[in-house]
Amino acid sequence: MPTPAAAVTALAGTRTGRRVVVGIVIAVLLVAAIALTPLIAIPFAVMGASMGVPAAEAPGGGPAVKGEWGYPLAGVYTKGRGFGYGPVVGCSYCPAQHRGYDMAQECGSTIYAAGPGEVITAGVYLDYGNSVRIDHGAGLVTIYGHMQWDSIRVKVGDPVTAGTALGAEGNTGRSFGCHLHFEVRENDVRLDPQPFMAARGLPLI
Ligand SMILES: [Zn+2]
Repeated sequence: MPTPAAAVTALAGTRTGRRVVVGIVIAVLLVAAIALTPLIAIPFAVMGASMGVPAAEAPGGGPAVKGEWGYPLAGVYTKGRGFGYGPVVGCSYCPAQHRGYDMAQECGSTIYAAGPGEVITAGVYLDYGNSVRIDHGAGLVTIYGHMQWDSIRVKVGDPVTAGTALGAEGNTGRSFGCHLHFEVRENDVRLDPQPFMAARGLPLI
């Protein structure tokens, strides 16, 4: 009686046996390819969905405003980092924990106040670089980080409303390419801007 190993060797040694072995290998590769396709395709689909999706733009060209709040950028933007953990590849000084929402248009694009309030800083502020902070009352503050040098159009104490132009998108402070770092704080606790804005009828992509 041949052992099982000897039987397999004998099978692979015949023409029919080789065909069976090759068939099994091809079937395994096909199944693996089919199983992996969604894993490969999904990240691209997600990237595609997050790029170039228009934020509503007001007819006059400014950002869409709903009630007292509006988008900090007008028109199409690209989403950068969202809120939470997400290290930046190639950026050693970018914190892994990201406590804001990054959105980008071209360098120099106008950045707008998201809601009514008073400007409390206008200029260099910590890692935000050239930036504006707005106090909306009730412990609520929004921050607009990384603006271009000399682009800020408001000063401390200025009243603003949603859609007031603040400055231009840049790459100052701890920044890795032109973008707006939009941050929302309530009693100095940083909130996720996505649900915050969605609750005001202004979903971010
Ligand atoms: Zn950011």
